[in-house]
Amino acid sequence: MTPSSKSILIIGSGISGLTCAIECASRGMNVMLASPFPSERSQSVLAAGGINCVLPKEGSPDTIKQHIEDTLKGGCNIAGRRAVEGLCNEAPDVVKWLESLGTVFTRDEDGNIRSRAFGGQTYPRTYFAGTSTGKQIVTALVMEARRYEGMGLIRRLFWTDFYAGLIKDGRCHGALMYNEATRSVESITADAVVVATGGQNALFGKTTGSTQCDGYTAGKLFTQGVDLKNLEFIQYHPTAIETDQKMMLISEAARGEGGRLYYEDEGKRVYFMEDKYGERGNLMPRDVVSREIYMTGRQVYLDVTFLGDKKIKERLPEIYELCMKYRNLDITRTSIPIKPSVHFFMGGIAVGLNHETRIRNLYAIGECASIYHGANRLGGNSLLAAIYSGRVAARSIAASDGGMKEEDWSSDVRKAQSDLESRRASKSRFSVTYVRRMITEAIDGSLGIVREKETLTKGINDIDYYMSVADKINYDSSEFEYLNYSLNGLLTLAKAVMISADSRCESRGAHLRSDYTETEEDYCRSTIISYDGGKYTTSLVAEDEYGS
Ligand SMILES: Cc1cc2nc3c(=O)[nH]c(=O)nc-3n(C[C@H](O)[C@H](O)[C@H](O)COP(=O)(O)OP(=O)(O)OC[C@H]3O[C@@H](n4cnc5c(N)ncnc54)[C@H](O)[C@@H]3O)c2cc1C
Repeated sequence: MTPSSKSILIIGSGISGLTCAIECASRGMNVMLASPFPSERSQSVLAAGGINCVLPKEGSPDTIKQHIEDTLKGGCNIAGRRAVEGLCNEAPDVVKWLESLGTVFTRDEDGNIRSRAFGGQTYPRTYFAGTSTGKQIVTALVMEARRYEGMGLIRRLFWTDFYAGLIKDGRCHGALMYNEATRSVESITADAVVVATGGQNALFGKTTGSTQCDGYTAGKLFTQGVDLKNLEFIQYHPTAIETDQKMMLISEAARGEGGRLYYEDEGKRVYFMEDKYGERGNLMPRDVVSREIYMTGRQVYLDVTFLGDKKIKERLPEIYELCMKYRNLDITRTSIPIKPSVHFFMGGIAVGLNHETRIRNLYAIGECASIYHGANRLGGNSLLAAIYSGRVAARSIAASDGGMKEEDWSSDVRKAQSDLESRRASKSRFSVTYVRRMITEAIDGSLGIVREKETLTKGINDIDYYMSVADKINYDSSEFEYLNYSLNGLLTLAKAVMISADSRCESRGAHLRSDYTETEEDYCRSTIISYDGGKYTTSLVAEDEYGS
């Protein structure tokens, strides 16, 4: 098949989905970009601090090789070298491309785009647009996508949620999608399907991310034969503030600009990160900082006051406003009381170097895919991975000779529709909202910064219980219907995360166990979890060996 005769369904329209759509359309492919909300409301717009790359800069000793080594080391040597080399080698081109599309990066006095330091970096290499980098990138990408929309190559579908993959004989032919406007399921066939649905935030209680990202698509595809990988590596961001609804991120930019962490002991400040790790202690990788905050057992504060009023309002305006709005806290005068929060998922859908899954013609990109970050992601590498993975998948689809087979999917649509109807008619003692809350309680209770066998086993038992009563759940027809049908996928995913965490009997990166405190050479590989008829199986693989 030539690229221009291919049709592509991309599910999720954040930064990775948008990039893949643009890259496919630029090769003449016909793209459907489906999501419940427009890109401007995706989690990607929350990205604050910046995007990593090494640009040639006079006097800077930084190199792409150093970016590669920092990324591998930050990920505790689990990520595959070939994947990370691809990511970091293309990073300068990614940032130049974003600039060419109109992303308004912050500049220095000479007019060059300005970088700052993020955690785990040997040299400052995070490029940013104030503290709203994600918003600026999404704006530029949406404009570019609209150009292709004008040419008839991209069609954006809103109010559209993933229901299930159209998968037969190890091959994907499209997806069943739920239309929120008509409250019905439709089949969309395509030569390739790209999953770009983000992380798994809604599985947890309060996080820094968006509840649009719940991991349902990964959970459902898992039951349809897709492997998941490294689910146990859940990133706790060290600095967040709690509000009634969610955790609000205090971007690493605050520490990149010089912010210092401390706690108080008998009226004296203890700069525990600097005491233990020296001058760059506040900018250690996130797994290390969160662990150290947890170990203090105290309220920890972040101090930026010494930067002064002008610098804070110029360089950290969103953080200034956020603290004012949610805490009535003037950070030019007062330290910020912070707390680690679930923030990012290193694990997700298992993909190979071309972002292909084990199912033919099915790809996964962005935060829902697991490949570059190993056991801990470095700040600024995720926006990069979202864009790079969108590019890689588009190239791979263009080069592939695969395509869908003409099939009649009407019986799958009828079955899905009748499942929806029977849920609407159900009457029972468990409400769906209650069970969803129980999932988050079980997962929060067993997958904190520190885990152990006992709490993981309890979590698995709790999830098993709710799986066993799934047919007794009162699905509320007045509710947003997606919350009803996605429940089983969430339960399956929650159990897969806990089993993965239980199977890794060591401490590494973001996976810290009180019963296995050492890092073990035998576990210096990725965890793959597979599903077959209700049975979950884990195995360990060397990262670069996964995929075709
Ligand atoms: C507060 C915050 C700040 C961050 N700051 C940075 C930073 O400075 N630098 C950095 O590198 N990274 C940062 N990150 C991480 C980074 O923003 C994300 O990893 C990245 O934007 C993810 O992009 P994505 O395209 O994979 O997913 P998302 O932007 O999350 O998009 C997911 C898309 O999938 C759709 N979707 C979800 N479920 C379904 C479904 N069932 N059916 C259909 N569609 C669905 C959503 O509606 C959305 O359109 C930050 C994250 C947060 C939460």
